[in-house]
Amino acid sequence: MKKFAIFGDPVIHSKSPQMQNAGFSYLNISANYEKFHLLDGKKLKDEFLKNDFYGANITVPHKEEAFLQADFVQGVAQKIEAVNTYIKKDGKIYAYNTDAGGFIKAIKSFGTIKRVLILGAGGTSKAISVALKEENIEVIILNRSKNRLDFFEKHNIEAFSWDEFKNIDTTFDLVVNSTSAGLKDDYLPAPKEILEIVLAKSSFAFDCIYGKITPFLSLAKSFNNEIKDGEDMLLYQGVLAFELFSETKADNLLIEAMRKGLRGK
Ligand code: NDP
Repeated sequence: MKKFAIFGDPVIHSKSPQMQNAGFSYLNISANYEKFHLLDGKKLKDEFLKNDFYGANITVPHKEEAFLQADFVQGVAQKIEAVNTYIKKDGKIYAYNTDAGGFIKAIKSFGTIKRVLILGAGGTSKAISVALKEENIEVIILNRSKNRLDFFEKHNIEAFSWDEFKNIDTTFDLVVNSTSAGLKDDYLPAPKEILEIVLAKSSFAFDCIYGKITPFLSLAKSFNNEIKDGEDMLLYQGVLAFELFSETKADNLLIEAMRKGLRGK
């Protein structure tokens, strides 16, 4: 039986095991995917190899450390400098970032998108901004503080703090909340005055937070934006990781089996 895990701190609430195990069951693959509570990210590679895992996902706060410890970093993850998926081949660790591709798949349902405003500048924002840029979509970042903006400058992505966001073309097709505002509170991810200007002209709003209508999505809806929460992003990052774990291409039936697993049905 092949062993898989999700490493994180905390990891207790992760839905990845139920989603990945649903995929393995659907394909009758003998595998087990479990939670691994890892406090010290420096021990990630050791624990991954010592426990004989074949593959893993890595979640907050270890994605950057996972990038540093991998033997080979594949694809867009090289630019993002953070990874969420490990595969072991010939004793070496190959690392990927499927958050990026998962987000791109999740916004496909909106149709054509040319210009995106991303609220927030954390790990998720880095992954999705680089992913959008790879698709030749224009991206602007708006963050509460000036901290964390260096990464975007390095990748030629325009990034502003709230008080710098003036004299900017505020026409966007899509506005994305990649902050944790709205997760456990009822904050908006940016000042209401700015959001109202932007959402009055945008068509679509996406929140990386899943399973609830956040204050951001409610506001976007009041401006007639088509809204979507982060469930599909979570699902598709999992599907892309599953394809790597199982070396199969996921069809719609497998994706729906994983969605049911994710929802605990
Ligand atoms: P980080 O901690 O790396 O980034 C947090 C960002 O949010 C920072 O830019 C921070 O600004 C900003 N922020 C935090 N609180 C507020 C607030 N009250 N108002 C405005 N800005 C705020 O988080 P992650 O990137 O790891 O995760 C962000 C969100 O995305 C989480 O809610 C997470 O649940 C969700 N997520 C969803 C996924 C999915 O598959 N659907 C996958 C990954 C994450 P500052 O720099 O000023 O501190």
